[in-house]
Amino acid sequence: MIGINMINIKRIKAKFISFVFLAALVISLGSIPGMAAEVNKSELMAQVFDAAEADLGGIGPEDTLIITDIGSPAESYVFLDDFYSEFYDRDLQYTKNLLTVQNSRNSPLWFAFFDKFSGNCTYIEVSYENESEVSYQVTENIDFCMLSKSPESRAAWNEKVNETVFDGREFAILTISNAWATGELDYELMQCLELHNHFCPGISSGYVLANWIEENYPLKKGVSYTVFSCPNWCKEDVFVKRWDATPGKGGVWVSSLTDEELEKIGNSTAGIFVVTDKNTETMKAVVLGFDFDIVRAECGAKADDPAWVSKYLMDLWLMDKENWDTEGLISVISVVDIDADTLNEMKQANTNPYIVLGLLNPTEIINPSKNGIYGVGNWTNESKPGQKA
Ligand SMILES: [Zn+2]
Repeated sequence: MIGINMINIKRIKAKFISFVFLAALVISLGSIPGMAAEVNKSELMAQVFDAAEADLGGIGPEDTLIITDIGSPAESYVFLDDFYSEFYDRDLQYTKNLLTVQNSRNSPLWFAFFDKFSGNCTYIEVSYENESEVSYQVTENIDFCMLSKSPESRAAWNEKVNETVFDGREFAILTISNAWATGELDYELMQCLELHNHFCPGISSGYVLANWIEENYPLKKGVSYTVFSCPNWCKEDVFVKRWDATPGKGGVWVSSLTDEELEKIGNSTAGIFVVTDKNTETMKAVVLGFDFDIVRAECGAKADDPAWVSKYLMDLWLMDKENWDTEGLISVISVVDIDADTLNEMKQANTNPYIVLGLLNPTEIINPSKNGIYGVGNWTNESKPGQKA
């Protein structure tokens, strides 16, 4: 019996030693950069937060902004509950520490953890199709003042951008994080950035224009806006978010203008905002211009600044509501009283809404892009329905 017991003890010892070696091997493999440990799906979000915490030295409500596209990539919704569980475990707040941006379904699932005190940002991508693991992780300092302070620091960041250290999201993460760190980034603007997924002067101009319309034609009960985003740029996503002006529901009609048309209309045309008021049974087409030259001149950017510097400086200038009344920034090109039939005509394909409103004379355009029924011969100065302000 004693002999058998001794054999069992030896076997147990051998098994234990094997286990220790195996455990040591697993731990050592996990510590090799690029050899991220595969985990269960249920542990992936914990791994992401732990990895960011290790790199940043902590995550907390006073210092952290998390930007992520969770929910957008295909099937990534399965991680939402785990993500919010990790998020709230750290006392983070939805409106103060998080920006969930929209991305396309074929985008990777990514997370950017920004620490505003150090300026460090840990960018993480995960794969979860077959095996669940952190597939990419990098930490960079993205403090705008540091990156933009000298030709050397700018060149160093340009190099990182060329290397796509954040997988092509360098501009988005840099601008959103730094703007958030100022403490002056309006949460309602952040909500627009969720849809637009980056922060640029284009979306900023939309925010200023939206506020102008709301101030001058208040969005009270019975009032709705129909936007002719013509010419279109990044600004349109503000209207979609803020006014529920979706293309599907006929809230926004998007088309472009030729350089010649832009020049003829003048005043840096931004678009036509049709205000329908059911209370007064009126419909007004408010045509606005937005002058980026003023923003460029006022924001402090220099001609030879790289785009990420000048665009961020423009964003900062446009974030300051005191600048919104700067003369010439927004101009009223025209306000035209219209009816439902005119609105319907403006919506038709092959129709230029500016010609419908009488702000473009098709006979003066060498190569009219969208004459439609208002083509050459149908339009006279006498029948011009709108007046330029
Ligand atoms: Zn944009």
